[in-house]
Amino acid sequence: MFKKLNILDEKDKRLRMISKDATFPLSNEDKDLIKRAIDELTYSQIENLAEKYELRPGMGLAFPQLGLNKRIIIIVHEVEDGVFDEYVFVNPKIISYSNEMIAADVGEGCLSVNREVEGHVPRYARVTVEGYDIDGNKIKVRAREELSIAFQHEIDHLNGILFYDRINKDKPFFNENEIRLI
Ligand SMILES: [Zn+2]
Repeated sequence: MFKKLNILDEKDKRLRMISKDATFPLSNEDKDLIKRAIDELTYSQIENLAEKYELRPGMGLAFPQLGLNKRIIIIVHEVEDGVFDEYVFVNPKIISYSNEMIAADVGEGCLSVNREVEGHVPRYARVTVEGYDIDGNKIKVRAREELSIAFQHEIDHLNGILFYDRINKDKPFFNENEIRLI
């Protein structure tokens, strides 16, 4: 049976903490949360299920959003209609990134931020992320575009950073000459 996760709101101080590295083996509780996060993120991107379970669409979650300050992130990326790639990274690190910057033109959203925040969030167009899978095997991914943004957004959560911290208050919007808008 599907049971919604309890996702912390932006006002919760736990979202501002620096999370600690997770250690292996992961506990069954952690593995269960990861599985539930994958399900919930997937359902949230399937219209009839999102409606049924009253889920706001989201493609990523980080453990601090569940009240656990451990460096674990989950991303469910819809690559084509109804087809999803799942990424679970334990102790993820960005090991290289592009010079080119991008921003989501519509801005970013976050399952912990229950309001619209306007403004472009500058991100690297491409990142290479290294980390571990749930069994402790080393893994690596090269992410671009939307997926690159998702990795940077989720890794920020592990460092107590919310996306709007990165919006320039004096100049919240860029034009196409300054940054590539996607
Ligand atoms: Zn978020």
